[in-house]
Amino acid sequence: METIKEFFGSLLLKELIKGMALTGRYFFARKITIQYPEEKTPMSPRFRGLHALRRYPNGEERCIACKLCEAVCPALAITIESEKRADGTRRTTRYDIDLTKCIYCGFCEESCPVDSIVETSMLEYHGEKRGDLYYTKDMLLAIGDRYEKDIAAAREADARYR
Ligand code: SF4
Ligand code: SF4
Repeated sequence: METIKEFFGSLLLKELIKGMALTGRYFFARKITIQYPEEKTPMSPRFRGLHALRRYPNGEERCIACKLCEAVCPALAITIESEKRADGTRRTTRYDIDLTKCIYCGFCEESCPVDSIVETSMLEYHGEKRGDLYYTKDMLLAIGDRYEKDIAAAREADARYR
């Protein structure tokens, strides 16, 4: 009986019509694909993207080389070396993040007592070889300098949200 039903079904192009109906339904439905990069999907305010090192408004680095971020990093992605300056303050001489190891957990940002290392909302970066994703102190400071306005605004919004 089942075979006969299948035979007549195939004669009447039942499967084809069902497929066309499905296509037609999606043809008029609201589109869920977007034309990236011209169009973008909404981003969570808590998104964790590319790292940056921040400065104070007078240009001084915020980082005091306490190494809490290095200690807390579960991926061992951060490497810090430091020295004492002539004025008695401590600053890093090396601050590297290997983004090929980073899992974007945000622990470094959470642990920082001076709001120095932060994860920005930047997601449009890439590396073409392994070394390209090894970010040095100068690179991280340059990102901080470039996006400070956005970072400060995001931190303020986050503080209000908490
Ligand atoms: S986001 Fe997490 S894994 Fe990445 S550097 Fe910070 S602490 Fe390490
Ligand atoms: S970035 Fe913050 S947590 Fe890391 S060493 Fe500097 S001051 Fe300490």
